[in-house]
Order: sequence, then C-alpha cells, then structure tokens
Amino acid sequence: MPDYTYLIVGGGMTAAAALEGIGESDAAETIGLIAAETQRPYNRPPLSKGLWKGKPLESIWRKIDDRRVTLHLGRAARQLDIAKQRVTDDQGTTYGYQKLLLATGGSPRRLMFGGEEILYYRTFGDYQRLREWADADQHFAVIGGGFIGSEVAAALAASGKRVTMVFPEAGIGGRIFPRDLSDFVNDYYRQKQVEVISETMISGLEVRSGKRVLKLRDAHDQGERELTVDRVVAGIGIRPNVELAQQAGLEVKNGIVVDRSLRTSQADIYAAGDVANFYNPLLDQQMRVEHEDNANTMGRMAGQAMAGQHVNYDHLPFFYSDLFDLGYEAVGETDSRLDIVADWQDQFKKGVIYYLRERRVRGVLLWNVWEQVDAARKLIAEPGPFDANALKGRLPV
Ligand code: NAP
Repeated sequence: MPDYTYLIVGGGMTAAAALEGIGESDAAETIGLIAAETQRPYNRPPLSKGLWKGKPLESIWRKIDDRRVTLHLGRAARQLDIAKQRVTDDQGTTYGYQKLLLATGGSPRRLMFGGEEILYYRTFGDYQRLREWADADQHFAVIGGGFIGSEVAAALAASGKRVTMVFPEAGIGGRIFPRDLSDFVNDYYRQKQVEVISETMISGLEVRSGKRVLKLRDAHDQGERELTVDRVVAGIGIRPNVELAQQAGLEVKNGIVVDRSLRTSQADIYAAGDVANFYNPLLDQQMRVEHEDNANTMGRMAGQAMAGQHVNYDHLPFFYSDLFDLGYEAVGETDSRLDIVADWQDQFKKGVIYYLRERRVRGVLLWNVWEQVDAARKLIAEPGPFDANALKGRLPV
C-alpha cells in the first residue's frame, strides 16, 4: 500500500500550490497526489484566455519535483477512512497518509438534457476538444454569461468563429457588474460580432442533420424558438466536490468547512481551494471562492500548515478577467445587488466601482485600472461610513 506523510486529493492549482507550501517547509517527507484528470497539474485560467491569444501551451504546466512527489493520475478518490487514515480510489488502490489535503475543486453544473453534445468547459481535456471543434466548425452557442461564458465567447469570436451567447440574466457578468455596465458589455460583445441573447433559458437540445438545435425559452413571455448551431459550449457554474468529505463525516456547508489554519473538522485533514468554506475576518463572513488567487494562496498555506507551520488564512482573494480588450481586477464582495458607487474616468472604459452595504465598502471592481488591489483591500478594512462623495477619487483611476 502506498503510504505517504502527505497525501493530496486533487490535481489542480490548489494542489500544485500546496506542494510548493510543503516543499518550502519540510524536505524529509513523502508526498502522494491522486487526481482524476490524466494531466499533470496546470494553470486553468489560460484555458479560456491566454491559450487563445497565442500563449504557448508549455507555459501552463506547474513545476512539480518528481523526485519528491508521486503522482497517481487518472484516479478518482472514492473513500476516506478517517480512523485508519486511508483513502481508496476508483481502481481499488488504498493509500495511507499522516496528513491529508482535500483539494477536490468543483464539477460543472449540467443541464438536464443534451448529454455529451454540450461541452461544460473546465479542464485541459475540454480545451483540447474545443480546439478540435474550432478547427472544424463555424457556429458556436455559448450558454451562460458568467466567467466561462464571457471568456470562451470572446476567445472563439477572436478566433474568427460565429458565436451566439445565451443566458438568463439581463447582461453579461450581471451578477457582478451594475446594470448599466452590464448593458454596455452586451453592446460591446455585439460590436465584436457576438450575438447576445439575454434573459433566455435553454429548454432542450436535439441533433438534426449534423447540427445542434437548441430550444430557447424567453424568461418574460415564455415564448419558444430554436437556435441552430454547429457546437454548444456551456459554463453555468460549478458545484464543490464534497462527496468524499461528506461520506467521511467531515463538516460540510457550502463546501468543506475549514478553520483559519485550513484544518477541517478532523485535525489531520485539511481542505483548500474551490471546495473550502472559510472565514474571512475582513468581511467578517464565511466564504467559498472559485478563483485563481484563492487556489494559489490558500493551497500554498495549506501545504505549509500540513508541514507544521503556524498559518492564519486571513487573505481576501482577488479575481480578474479579460473581455476582448477590456479587463478588470476585483476584490471582496462584488455583488451587483449591493449599493453601488461608480467613479468613471472614461465611462465604461476606465473606472472604479465600489460595492457598499450599510455605508461600508464590501468590494471593489477595478475596471481597466491596475495595481490597486491592495489599496482596495485596505479600503474594505476601513469601517466607514462612506458615501459617493467620500469614495469618488478615493482610489486613483
Ligand atoms: P459562473 O461565473 O458562476 O456563471 C454561471 C452563469 O451561468 C451565469 O451567467 C448564470 O446565470 C448562468 N446559468 C445558470 N444556470 C443556467 C442555466 N440553466 N442556463 C443558462 N445559464 C445558466 O460560472 P462559470 O462561468 O461556469 O465558471 C465556472 C467556475 O470557474 C466559476 O467558479 C468561476 O469563478 C471559475 N472561473 C473563473 C474565471 C476567472 O476568475 N476569470 C474564469 C473562468 C472560470 P444566473 O446568474 O442568472 O444564474
């Protein structure tokens, strides 16, 4: 039986960062990693951004020291025995551990129909498949107006493909962007030749004469119509992969609950990344974050904690995205339903959006404004009260 000092379940960015964290701290350990994907750990963001803009494929792989880490790829962990400190995978192999990290991430939410005809975009394998489709086909439907939808639609359109976006909100990025900015982004995508069909659900999919025919339902009048395309890609959110933790009896509540040292309810088991539910002192709330900075920072700290260092995960992670030539960074609670103060230098092109609750800044969106994430974090830490006058010009645009 493979028996490790440190065992990591999951092979994404969080796992790769955890290996770095362990590596910094302790040189005499044995480390094993079990991952369902067959690829070595890689950076996920380029799959929907950089790789479509000419970034070389070699640049995505994370550096792993094969002399120190044994990778068990193409295996899904199925059982966790807390008492015996063992994990068993889907091929029946059992692994022992002294400390375990659950970096199991999330799996795409799926529609009730369409099966394999819909590519739920998340992994390197999905990237390869979309590349093959893009080489052969012309017209793509992209379902969802969140991160994957907006980035994949831009990537395909910039590659000369015809793209039709369909999503239930009024505008692209509608959960984050205030309504006027979201409307602007819809228009901006249309200028880039993307057909944008908002406030519309998909209610079915059929294959006819080698094409995919989507049934669209208008969210207002419930009227139905068809959209015929060559291929369908979707990003309609993810669900945290908590099954292993749940089955073992760890505390699970919108993710695996961890304390500030990234321990689960079981002292020798840690969790980090998309799957972990943690307390953030700056916002004074429990959070689960599905972005790169959280994966890397939390993963590294989990590794350090496993290797015996004292850690306190009080980091407020930032996130970013590119929408054709527009780009942004954001931090904190960026929920478009909060009170909004917009400070535009050039409307919808360059500016700062502040998100407030009870006159306290909860989040900041830096729209084509760079290197202000730390200043935004400091502002979120301030008690306020703030109003529009106090905030305009507060962060340099
Ligand atoms: P997402 O950003 O949560 O967006 C989901 C989108 O799908 C929303 O527009 C949502 O609309 C829509 N939707 C939900 N149910 C739907 C349905 N039945 N039919 C059509 N649309 C539906 O999730 P994602 O784009 O799938 O991204 C997956 C994960 O990868 C997320 O965790 C994301 O944070 C991460 N990611 C991050 C980045 C980045 O940081 N730049 C880039 C790519 C991916 P409603 O809001 O109306 O529900």
